[in-house]
Amino acid sequence: MKIAIIGGGIVGLSIGYKLQLIKGNKVTLFEKEHEVGLHQSGRNSGVLHCGLAYKPGSLKAKLAVNGIKQMISFCKKNNINHEICGKIVVAQNDLEIKNLDNVFKIGKKNGLNGLKFLSNSELKIREPYVSAKKSLLVPEEGIVDYKGVMKCLEKQIKEYGGSIKLSSNIKKIENKINKIHINNDDDEFDLLINCSGLQADITFKNLTKEKRPLKIVPFRGEYYKLTKSAKKLVNHLIYPVGNPKFPFLGVHFTKMINGDREVGPNAVLSLKREGYSNTDISISEMYDYITYPGFLKFIGKNFLFCMNEFSTSLLKSSFLNKAKILIPELRSEDIYSGPAGVRAQAIKYNGELHMDFEVIRKNNQIHLLNAPSPAATASLSIADYVIENYIT
Ligand SMILES: Cc1cc2nc3c(=O)[nH]c(=O)nc-3n(C[C@H](O)[C@H](O)[C@H](O)COP(=O)(O)OP(=O)(O)OC[C@H]3O[C@@H](n4cnc5c(N)ncnc54)[C@H](O)[C@@H]3O)c2cc1C
Repeated sequence: MKIAIIGGGIVGLSIGYKLQLIKGNKVTLFEKEHEVGLHQSGRNSGVLHCGLAYKPGSLKAKLAVNGIKQMISFCKKNNINHEICGKIVVAQNDLEIKNLDNVFKIGKKNGLNGLKFLSNSELKIREPYVSAKKSLLVPEEGIVDYKGVMKCLEKQIKEYGGSIKLSSNIKKIENKINKIHINNDDDEFDLLINCSGLQADITFKNLTKEKRPLKIVPFRGEYYKLTKSAKKLVNHLIYPVGNPKFPFLGVHFTKMINGDREVGPNAVLSLKREGYSNTDISISEMYDYITYPGFLKFIGKNFLFCMNEFSTSLLKSSFLNKAKILIPELRSEDIYSGPAGVRAQAIKYNGELHMDFEVIRKNNQIHLLNAPSPAATASLSIADYVIENYIT
């Protein structure tokens, strides 16, 4: 089968890699940028999520639990830097303790091993600077070099006979008797898979000519980096318990695979889908979500949350205050502005954030309409899921 994949993020590359391993397939992956992985997949926290707080039975839960195992063995086999350093999730008040107890139960249901509430002295040994009323150790969680993973997937797709076409922005196709032609290319395909991340709903509309079943709204996540002398404040991964209403995990501290320490990301409504600062603005993209009933309902219900996140983008002091909840000793001079990424988050017409992954098939097209975190961790098992349920 000849298969076209749109999007060279970690999801498109993983699907391309797994399909190219199957005898008889020929994959061509189209990426609009001059290299793969320049958007979400190359701008994330670099964390391997093991399935802690995702609704039991959901795709996120199943595919994260399986995906982290696959990702670790892929990294081992291909000498890609990774480390299972464990994560600590902390609660600061009674409500958060209730949420943490619930997260523990969900983690158990999802089959996680080694979950353990830490005593104060155990916490102090692992993370001496963290303040917590209660803390949970998640030993299976880790960190990885996702850029290295993507370079390796790209190389393997080519080695197994597939091809990667860079600087190829796919906006239209032609359907001719069950065959798909892309951008007037002579090549014809039996199947097309849309993995275009932040553009997934627009690609869906362009290719199917149908109304989008949901819309992607971009939420930027900004990070600060810890200075060399402040690195001692963080040994591994330190997360707040988070608000179960939102898929965003809350400002956390991350040990990066290169040894750096980062704090973030916040979740700021972005003024452009691929907009990495507040001065990156696209009027047409803003108009697209501002006129969307789902977005207006979401804002109506979550105005304070959005304003609060926006304040952390405008004011370093506001960001610092969030970070200090986890590590009170952190000072303004300990952190400096770091990278940013933009999350592709689908919002439904009723204003609800779409919490799970979403895949649909329309004739000879498969569309991944929602692949937010933990899709990087889960990418290899997302690939299996798509192949088993939508192709074979
Ligand atoms: C700030 C942040 C932190 C995160 N942290 C984590 C984490 O620690 N762990 C984790 O597991 N997940 C994390 N995630 C989520 C994870 O990074 C994403 O879920 C995952 O990278 C999505 O991959 P993707 O391939 O679907 O999208 P992308 O990586 O965005 O790739 C889509 C690709 O499609 C291309 N494209 C778009 N339109 C077209 C077109 N028309 N033609 C050709 N190409 C096109 C784009 O250029 C892009 O390269 C985080 C995300 C963000 C933003």
